[in-house]
Amino acid sequence: MKIPIGSSLSLLWRYLLPNKRKMVLLFALLFVNIGLQLANPQILRHFIDTASSPAPGELIWIAAFFAGTAVLGNIASGFAAYVGEDVAWSATNALRADLVRHTLGLDMTFHKMHTAGEMIERIDSQFVVKVCGTFVLMFGVLVLMFFEDWRIGLTMTIYALLVLLVMRRAKGVAVPYFKDQRQATADLSAFWEERLSGLEDIRSSGAESHAMRMQAGLMRTVFSKSMRATFFGRFLFSAAIVLFAIGNSAAIASGAALLGLGAVTLGTVYLIFDYTGTLSSNLRMVTEQLDDLQRASAGIERVSELVHMRSAVQDPAVPVALAELHAAHLCFEDVSFAYDDNESAADNAPVLQSVSFELAPGKVLGLLGRTGSGKTTLTRLLFRFYDPVRGRVTLDGVDLRELRIGDLRKRVGLVTQEVQLFQASVRDNLTFFDASISDERILHVIAELGLTDWLGQLPKGLDSELESGAGGLSAGEGQLLAFARVFLADPGLVVLDEASSRLDPATEQRIERAVEKLLRGRTALIIAHHLTTVQRADDILILQDGRILEYGPRRELAARADSRFAYLLRTGLQEVLV
Ligand code: ATP
Ligand code: MG
Repeated sequence: MKIPIGSSLSLLWRYLLPNKRKMVLLFALLFVNIGLQLANPQILRHFIDTASSPAPGELIWIAAFFAGTAVLGNIASGFAAYVGEDVAWSATNALRADLVRHTLGLDMTFHKMHTAGEMIERIDSQFVVKVCGTFVLMFGVLVLMFFEDWRIGLTMTIYALLVLLVMRRAKGVAVPYFKDQRQATADLSAFWEERLSGLEDIRSSGAESHAMRMQAGLMRTVFSKSMRATFFGRFLFSAAIVLFAIGNSAAIASGAALLGLGAVTLGTVYLIFDYTGTLSSNLRMVTEQLDDLQRASAGIERVSELVHMRSAVQDPAVPVALAELHAAHLCFEDVSFAYDDNESAADNAPVLQSVSFELAPGKVLGLLGRTGSGKTTLTRLLFRFYDPVRGRVTLDGVDLRELRIGDLRKRVGLVTQEVQLFQASVRDNLTFFDASISDERILHVIAELGLTDWLGQLPKGLDSELESGAGGLSAGEGQLLAFARVFLADPGLVVLDEASSRLDPATEQRIERAVEKLLRGRTALIIAHHLTTVQRADDILILQDGRILEYGPRRELAARADSRFAYLLRTGLQEVLV
């Protein structure tokens, strides 16, 4: 998606506008600073001319004035830095808050496309101000030079343009080498990250020497790319030094010539020399700033793209309220679905095709099928992470698209194969930061799930901090915590994507008991991998390549010798486990 520059700018403006007064102050301080920088050499010229005149007077006053402006300049720039940071961070934080809120509302398609964190950059208002400042200062220097003598003004303008041109060109030559170097370093870091996280697998499979060889290869690349980048970087640096030396020589030579002609005073020669120095240092700064500016505007453009992205899944204009039943009634009516973000059209095959079934309140549906047959996808439609391409899904007789998404997700609970924990207390991990849930209820649920002993081992009980991911928990404990979450949310329909991994028999029994409690009084859809879980189902639905292969009451299917389900039972579910 391409967003016009105008909207990127308006985005930037939207976040800077609340800080309007501070921005004005920032510009005012900047102009004070520039004015003082331009005035300083003028004062010095006056000093030199007065000192070299036959009757030097008031020198002490000029010196005091000079010192005064220097102090003032420093105060102004310090203050500007403070205001700049203030504006930058308030704007950035406001943008971040909006971006995260926006991202949470986008459908899953988006999350797949973008890695988190990549999007958010700092809005550096000070930076924009700085670039403006550099240009204004250089412009001021050139104007003042023209005032002194038009020939000097002209020479310096040509010099400035020449430097800008050469520096941009030279950068163009050197940048690809720097890019190569950065890429090589990134590859090496990625390699380390991957290998370190897979350390156990590497060690256990004896792949150490292979890993070492790969590392050596990557390091060799980093070495050669870095050498080349450094060489060209040096070259660029020398080119700049030579250019600036030429500029300074030109300033001194023209100053000396004019002094000889009696056209200017010694003080003016100093002034020209000083201004040339200011010009040179700002020219160097501006070439660097232009690069940063390019990078920054690319960042703003990316953010702007994100902000303009609309979720395919939206709340209806007039949401229908759900009836206050406990166990839910679920229907899939001729549902077809395809993930539409696949790159190639060939991949864009439907993942679900004409799936229809009905799940009466309080009933349990066992969903079976090989890996990739579309089981998880089917459950995603239930939460409106995506909408079906054809057909409809209804809950208690209402099309999901007519419900408010928030209401829907309160009514349906999910236990996934992998539990995701937050770096927060046990309490917050279970209640999802809902403070209205009492500790009593939490402890009750924990006791019911047989997690009391586990909680007792934690140093601070419910206040103990858990780590993000599933760190520090066994697979069984993680699953049980996921159950506890659903119990506390108390939905009318639960979706259980059972872990296919084998747990130890004791843990498996605990989970069995938890499942039993979870299903009591609720409608459930279970993606089952274990025979005992399958036995709880009232109905069985077997998916194959997104189509229903078999669907019916479990007992009936089990009794029919020619059914696929009976075959699966005979083979101990081997077919659905692999
Ligand atoms: P498993 O038993 O391994 O969990 P599954 O039956 O749950 O498998 P799904 O995860 O629903 O299978 O996947 C069905 C098909 O859809 C697969 O071909 C998969 O590659 C594809 N698929 C799954 N998720 C996405 C996604 N987010 N974007 C695009 N394609 C996807
Ligand atoms: Mg799955």
